[in-house]
Amino acid sequence: MKTAAIIVAAGRGTRAGAGLPKQWHPLGGRTVLAHSIGAFCDVVDHIVVAIHPDDRARALALQDIWPKLQIVHGGDSRAASVLAALRELEGCGVEKVLIHDGARPLVAAQVIRDVLDALDYAVGAAPALPVTDALWRGDQGQVVGTADRTGLWRAQTPQGFRFDAILAAHLAHPGGAADDVEVARWAGHMVAIVQGDEDNLKLTFAGDFARAEHILKGREMDIRLGNGFDVHAFTQGDHIWLCGVRLPHSHALLGHSDADVGMHALTDALYGALAEGDIGVHFPPSDPQWKGAESHIFLRHAMERVAARGYRLANCDVTLICERPKIGPHQAAMRAALAQIMQVPVDAISVKATTSEKLGFTGREEGIAALATAALVKA
Ligand code: MG
Repeated sequence: MKTAAIIVAAGRGTRAGAGLPKQWHPLGGRTVLAHSIGAFCDVVDHIVVAIHPDDRARALALQDIWPKLQIVHGGDSRAASVLAALRELEGCGVEKVLIHDGARPLVAAQVIRDVLDALDYAVGAAPALPVTDALWRGDQGQVVGTADRTGLWRAQTPQGFRFDAILAAHLAHPGGAADDVEVARWAGHMVAIVQGDEDNLKLTFAGDFARAEHILKGREMDIRLGNGFDVHAFTQGDHIWLCGVRLPHSHALLGHSDADVGMHALTDALYGALAEGDIGVHFPPSDPQWKGAESHIFLRHAMERVAARGYRLANCDVTLICERPKIGPHQAAMRAALAQIMQVPVDAISVKATTSEKLGFTGREEGIAALATAALVKA
């Protein structure tokens, strides 16, 4: 079933200050209207924005982001703007249309889905919240009466309708309706109420923007990335430690600790993601207590810092660079060892290897290099 969204953004409301219509104000790095449009772009087949002709250049810039965005010039009233957008969609085969205020940038995907779903059984559907505060009548700064709030709702958008029904209703309506639900009801259609959302606020006053910024910050995905790189030279010996696994080898790796080059790169990736330096900062090589230390001490410490900062490991990826030993047969054991040390699922850990085609110090088998990437997300 084809769906469309109409974003009404032709108003000149400047109560929010700065002399600019509020839908064009910046919010979290883009305009309010860009947020409002973005909320629908993955959900519907068509998006039409109704703008004031003076804002055409700004609207065309939005089309660069969403090529499917259709632009129409709105009219003198909200209803005239909606009708212009509905006419733009005529003949496109749209069956459900959502009509949304351009100044409601924080509408949640769930609200949009609920409205669309309700249109399976109702001609119209719109989100709303029950009035919970007491209602007063006031005059000249004084309470002069109370009103019964029973059955009262605070209307939000998007207001959704069967396309043909709302187009016919708008064409026939004499004008002056507060919103599209009023137009639909005037035409005799049933409009269902779906659950609204307190965050779906209509930005009107300057203070609303601070609240919207605060809500947006809370929604941001908090992801941190770090990388690590380490090299250890071969020396005389008969085994090496790599990613927590002891491998028999013709040489050993030289180092202050057990020289587990893979685990060192991974540990540095974790510290790097936290912007907390590297192994050398936390375990100075000048300190004799770390001589010959097992590297899982470092890795465990880095994971403790991750937890202490309120993050968890999403995944990590370690690449070992050497001609020998062959890593393939030990990959599974290495992933299991790291998972055990880090207390994360094995599928969060990748260990892979490459040669350097016999080039450079790794190619000449003078040592082993390792690099690692770690992604942390807010726990
Ligand atoms: Mg090292």
